[in-house]
Amino acid sequence: MKSINPEDIKRLDLILSRSQKTAIVTHMKPDGDAAGSTTAMYHFLKQYTQAEVKIVLNDRFQSSLEFLTDRQSKENIYIYSDQPELASDAITNADTIICLDFNAFHRTDKLCYILENTKATKVLIDHHLYPDTDRFDLIFSETETSSACELLYSILMSMPQIRQDASRLPAAAAMSLMTGMTTDTNNFANSVYPSTLTMASTLLAAGVDRDYILSCLYNQHSENRLRLMGHMMKDLLTITDDGAAYMILDMETQKKYNVQEGDTEGFVNMPLSIADVRMSLLLKEDTDRIRVSIRSKKGTSANRCARLYFNGGGHENAAGGRLDIPVTEVEQYIKEHVHTYLTEDED
Ligand code: 5GP
Ligand code: MN
Repeated sequence: MKSINPEDIKRLDLILSRSQKTAIVTHMKPDGDAAGSTTAMYHFLKQYTQAEVKIVLNDRFQSSLEFLTDRQSKENIYIYSDQPELASDAITNADTIICLDFNAFHRTDKLCYILENTKATKVLIDHHLYPDTDRFDLIFSETETSSACELLYSILMSMPQIRQDASRLPAAAAMSLMTGMTTDTNNFANSVYPSTLTMASTLLAAGVDRDYILSCLYNQHSENRLRLMGHMMKDLLTITDDGAAYMILDMETQKKYNVQEGDTEGFVNMPLSIADVRMSLLLKEDTDRIRVSIRSKKGTSANRCARLYFNGGGHENAAGGRLDIPVTEVEQYIKEHVHTYLTEDED
């Protein structure tokens, strides 16, 4: 990871210290990195600034991430899908908006229009490719890092309040940062840089309880989830001659296994364990669209595939998008376009 520009830190410190109402936003359907970075920022701002701080989300955190919130922070989280007016006001009334773990407003779903129409000072802290730079007043964008949480960690450590001493981070912020880095690296399985391990080591030394985090993230699932995983790997996984693996999860199956948000996290990675598989796709029927998750091995771009065929994007080897076709047509779509993609991609 490149080092953080000290001038940018000065600007950030000035913006935050002058702010009276700060809103923190992240992408729709927040994952561990989104939940970790927003709650870490929240705790930092609560401890070190005078501003009224609110987190505004399109959707609530999935249950395995609820350990990142306490009673006090929960009171300051506004969820558009539950309380559209309060959430909208929290953004409209803010003088400063911190945008975490996304590269363009449309990734916030229904918050997009509200964000486009506010005059607040906007700060981006993100690790995705191709940030929408025109929309922000101050940008911290770094793709050579594990997660938004790792980038935020470097920024916070450089702030005058912390001065590279992690023991000055609020304990809840340190736990949140470790959590987001852990989920975005798939528990140190991918996107791990030297700086990632330095961060982990520093946070552990500062007292973060990693065992507790791992038990909240990975050992609190329902029985249904494990049974669903078995069903998907045994009966729903198709592997093509081109080295694509795909699974289509329709609404009926989701109902049968009582699938909750976040339950299928990580499933898309599993087929990459097969030697001949270069790219893996999970297509999940949602109320108004098919949500697409793509993972690839080095040498095959999940990001390019998401951009070309699934109205999406993300990172080089982990990307996502959407399809607006009936679930019954998804298999044909995959067969055609993923074949084209993998056979044209050999240049
Ligand atoms: P996931 O498969 O875990 O939902 O997403 C993997 C990566 O792709 C994440 O970094 C996420 O930000 C990105 N991503 C997921 N869905 C979309 C989408 O619809 N559009 C864009 N641009 N990126 C997405
Ligand atoms: Mn992320």
